[in-house]
Amino acid sequence: MCRHLGYLGPPRDLATLLLAPPHSLLRQSYAPVDMRGGGTINADGFGAGWYPDGAITPIRYRRAVPLWTDATFAALATEVRSGAVLAAVRSATVGMPIVDTACAPFGTGRWLFSHNGRIAGWPDSVATLARRLPVTDLLTLDAPTDSALLWALVRSRLAAGETLGCAVGTVAAQVLGCAPSSRLNLLITDGVTLAATTVHHALAVRVGDGAVLVCSEPTDDSSDWEPVADRHLLTATSSAVDVVPIPADMAHADPTVTEEP
Ligand code: GLN
Repeated sequence: MCRHLGYLGPPRDLATLLLAPPHSLLRQSYAPVDMRGGGTINADGFGAGWYPDGAITPIRYRRAVPLWTDATFAALATEVRSGAVLAAVRSATVGMPIVDTACAPFGTGRWLFSHNGRIAGWPDSVATLARRLPVTDLLTLDAPTDSALLWALVRSRLAAGETLGCAVGTVAAQVLGCAPSSRLNLLITDGVTLAATTVHHALAVRVGDGAVLVCSEPTDDSSDWEPVADRHLLTATSSAVDVVPIPADMAHADPTVTEEP
């Protein structure tokens, strides 16, 4: 399974956030420690999205190569600074394509999104949910993967005016209803707030000094990291974090969706 990271706070360079820490996302790409049975390393690609100073719309860099092989990214990471970053390293689920566009972050407009996990029973288990999306959304998925479909489901809720937390919490709950053994750690930001779910996968959070850092695994040995319990919804700004169980009623937020056991 993949590993992902979200940061909100004072502008930092990408190398400091993603490459330099002792258990950085870079290290988690080849030596993760808490994969919970979901794969071994995260070598099928990576991506980073960041908001330039004052910008509402982020920039994305995605490649289907191991993070440790991309010297161009390492060089630009020392120069790019941002106060809002979402990044991920990928371990492709068996059968899913290894292409740039299957790497997180997915995004449209001001949003960046990542999924750590897999949809059990893909694709049949979520056909009913997918059918509710406009056909053009399905025809223009970034890639034929579970993560790209999850992004389309989340995006349609955001476009309808839902908050980040409501959108990812509802999609996680609905997919869990259709495919109960799925792993659904979702992560999203709009550059000002972020939201994340935990479903059968690891996540930790560190908050302090006007910054919040959320990552699949702690990036250093600081005692400030708090694990996020399973089946929880985290919402955060750069100065505050809220963690609650994923509300059960989120699965029923759309009464026209038929959920299978
Ligand atoms: N299942 C997704 C994919 O293959 C997510 C990756 C992961 O968490 N392993 O792209």
